[in-house]
Amino acid sequence: MANPSNPSEIARETLKQLMVRRLAPSPDNYLAIYNEIAGVTDKSAEAFPERELKSLLLALPKETPVQQRLARELDQALKTANWEDYRKGLVDFIVEHSAESDLVWNDLIADLLRQWDAKQSGLTPARKRESLERVLNTAKNNELLFSRLQNLTKSWSLNEPAADSIEVADSTSDTETEGAMASPVQTATPATGPLSRASELLPELRDIFAYTLETVVATQLDDEPELANQVKALAASARKASTIKAMNDLLAEIKRFAFRLEFLAEDRNELRTGLLKLLQLVIENVSELVIDDGWMSGQVAVVRDIVAKPMNLRMVTDAEHRLKEVIFKQSQLKHSLVEAKEALKQMLAGFVDHLAEFADSTSDYHDKIEVCAEKISKANDISQLENVLAEVIKETRIIQLNAQRSRDDLRLTRERVEAAERRVNELQQELDKASTLVRHDQLTGSLNRKGLEETFEVEVARAQRRKSPLCVALLDIDNFKKLNDTLGHDAGDAALIHLVSVVRETLRPQDTLARFGGEEFVILLPDTPVEDATKALVRLQRELTKRIFLTDNEKILITFSAGVTEYRTSDTQATVTKRADEAMYAAKKAGKNRVISA
Ligand code: GH3
Ligand code: MG
Ligand code: MG
Repeated sequence: MANPSNPSEIARETLKQLMVRRLAPSPDNYLAIYNEIAGVTDKSAEAFPERELKSLLLALPKETPVQQRLARELDQALKTANWEDYRKGLVDFIVEHSAESDLVWNDLIADLLRQWDAKQSGLTPARKRESLERVLNTAKNNELLFSRLQNLTKSWSLNEPAADSIEVADSTSDTETEGAMASPVQTATPATGPLSRASELLPELRDIFAYTLETVVATQLDDEPELANQVKALAASARKASTIKAMNDLLAEIKRFAFRLEFLAEDRNELRTGLLKLLQLVIENVSELVIDDGWMSGQVAVVRDIVAKPMNLRMVTDAEHRLKEVIFKQSQLKHSLVEAKEALKQMLAGFVDHLAEFADSTSDYHDKIEVCAEKISKANDISQLENVLAEVIKETRIIQLNAQRSRDDLRLTRERVEAAERRVNELQQELDKASTLVRHDQLTGSLNRKGLEETFEVEVARAQRRKSPLCVALLDIDNFKKLNDTLGHDAGDAALIHLVSVVRETLRPQDTLARFGGEEFVILLPDTPVEDATKALVRLQRELTKRIFLTDNEKILITFSAGVTEYRTSDTQATVTKRADEAMYAAKKAGKNRVISA
């Protein structure tokens, strides 16, 4: 036969030659004869040492996720006989292996300890100990130990049954890598070790998934009964799904459901944006109405500011509280304004009436007296005069009586006006008293003591629910009296406002700032251990040196001393504040402008 040219002919001829030459049908023999027939002499085509490279790959460690990924890349290079990729993969492997990894053990251990002490649903201390021991016994090197401990801590913090997720993750990735490279039979063998543990945990995983659907997803769907029913049905199917087919069906259903949820989320998002716009509109209108009350326009500006930012629950509550205060104060003011106007109207009406009456009676009197005068000038005898005189006396008495009555009426009106004035004053006092009930400090707009009390309770409850640390800081401006004395009280006020705005912009939105007294402030830092809270306060100090306070073109550096402490379950607001206060006092004693933790 002439030299065959197309690959299938070459292949057929190669098999024939193997038989003719009585050679074993090994891949190497096949390749050699194939090349011979095809006339391939290029060394590189036959030089790819697949077998050797494969055994090298099998010998490489595949413990960390990075190693596993690199192994998969090498496997791919093997399959496509791509020496360049293989070489690159190998170099990466070596670089990765020899890289000094910065494992931040102290942070990890701190996290682990925190999670160890915290309570998680469905995780008993014995269970946690068991997972930890398993990780300690199975991790073969530092890096692996680090990453597994990290996973364990994370899974605890998510309230997930810890070791389980690790085992599942490990065994799947192991199988994946091995399956990709070696015999696929291996994955199908009823495995012992990690794999079997993972499948043992499947029912539990299903239960947790169903539980999540029922308790978390379903509660989000109160206003979507159809979806809520669907989610319950899904949860029920998840609990029952034990065959591959049932699992596949479940998977398809979940996908469909996820699509619908996505649409719903989009709708809700639009609704939320619409509502926010509406709220903004209302606030704009309110701000147009209150032109002459500084406090109110300030409050309205704050609400507008809150609404303009990306929303979170805390901000919404804050906006709600402030709006309520605005509405409350507005209604009070309106009430007293109506009363004052009413009194004024009455007073004016009274005046006008009396003026008119008085004018009437006096002009009448004038007319009569004029008539009498004429009679007197024309009188011829004393008896005529006597009559005129009697008339004059009578008219004068009448006018006197009229004047008396007018005076009495005027006095009465004045008394009524005074009573109305008293009422207005009383209202003003009531209003002042009510404003001590509001939650915000009128000068700086931060929370006042009352507001702090309420927020403290909310934060403590939240911290206890989440088992997360809550820090309390107390800060006191340094040498504030001197600032007041040299620059004046108004400059002192402006400095307080400046401090508050720097705190607001520097700390996280979830931190709470309250004015505790004159130049003393309390900051609540939820979800923050004391070291981080101290760092946050130091950051605030640095920020104050950058954003210098300017008054009358003079640059003033405001510094503060602060005490920081972590809330303990035995604490009341008073005890924790006292501890922060003592630490603050220590900071003052140590030379001011510093932060000390209790
Ligand atoms: P230290 O560094 O030790 O804290 O000294 P200090 O001067 O800051 O503290 P001190 O307690 O001696 O003085 C606080 C001053 O704060 C006294 C008071 O006049 C002033 N102050 C309190 N409330 C206000 C306010 O609302 N506005 C202004 N401008 N000053 C205030
Ligand atoms: Mg003070
Ligand atoms: Mg001070």
